[in-house]
Amino acid sequence: MRGDAKSMTVLSPRSAAEAVKAYAQAPAALPLAGGTDLMVAWNLGQWNGRAVLDLSRVAEWRTIKASAQGVLIGSLVTHSQIQAHPVLQKRFPLLVAACATVGAAQIQNRGTIGGNIANASPAGDTFPALAVYEATVRVIGPAGQRVVPIADIFAGVKKTTLKPGELIEAIFLPFVKTPTRGVFRKVGTRAAQAISKTMFAGLIWIGKDKKVTEARLSFGSLAPTVRRLHAAESFLRGRQLDPISINAAAELMTSDVSPIDDIRSTREYRLIVSRNLLVAFLKGEVK
Ligand SMILES: Cc1cc2nc3c(=O)[nH]c(=O)nc-3n(C[C@H](O)[C@H](O)[C@H](O)COP(=O)(O)OP(=O)(O)OC[C@H]3O[C@@H](n4cnc5c(N)ncnc54)[C@H](O)[C@@H]3O)c2cc1C
Repeated sequence: MRGDAKSMTVLSPRSAAEAVKAYAQAPAALPLAGGTDLMVAWNLGQWNGRAVLDLSRVAEWRTIKASAQGVLIGSLVTHSQIQAHPVLQKRFPLLVAACATVGAAQIQNRGTIGGNIANASPAGDTFPALAVYEATVRVIGPAGQRVVPIADIFAGVKKTTLKPGELIEAIFLPFVKTPTRGVFRKVGTRAAQAISKTMFAGLIWIGKDKKVTEARLSFGSLAPTVRRLHAAESFLRGRQLDPISINAAAELMTSDVSPIDDIRSTREYRLIVSRNLLVAFLKGEVK
């Protein structure tokens, strides 16, 4: 059975307020942003008979706004728009790099950051960068607005903590002090159109005494949801990055991640490559 458009009702709100109202009245509707995830399942006939909440006319969720505190990215902003934005390029380069690895140009032109988060794949490319920038997700629904830390928006594989009737309206990135170094790396089977085997985002701040003042380390594809390496981060604080402390931090990785064997890779490969990435980052060998 293929997708049958005639079996589906399309709701077309023209504002955020209309979208929330329409969704409250039709809670079984499927929010549609860029459609790059949703239409794959639609094509297989999985959504036949379901209503679709088409968000394409909600103009207020298409903007990127910089303020003194940070940058607010509307949920309907595409991966291409993020890459082209000068403030994001300068202040959040790891997110810009991550968006450049999503699918290929066609997917980046349609796929949105809100859709990426709501889809909640363990391999969502933007998540490690959002995790180290400590992004918050602004959600709106029948009970009003709420702000959810990025780590708390994911409940498991393809599951979020969005409540019935809630939509993602924006993602806020607070400005951070310029790190000593920052890196995003995605490891897949090829350079484009590849889902990651592992993904790393790291930010580190090192003081004049050569001791780590703060480390933010995150992996995707190594657990059901994106993970920060909390054990390694707290171990590194106040230490110099010598071979002993780097090795000890790498040993702590598995306190926070638990990769599996699947169609794309094995647990063993994922752990070896991820450890290598982490060690190279801490040594300053990847920039
Ligand atoms: C060929 C191909 C390659 C891909 N490669 C990658 C890749 O390399 N990395 C990667 O991370 N992803 C990849 N994807 C997945 C997809 O492109 C991204 O996740 C994209 O960001 C999804 O955004 P979208 O706007 O298209 O979402 P949609 O398909 O419109 O929606 C996705 C899900 O989110 C829900 N949703 C959308 N917007 C909202 C909102 N504002 N509030 C609440 N729920 C909402 C929808 O109901 C749906 O469940 C790929 C997809 C394809 C088809």
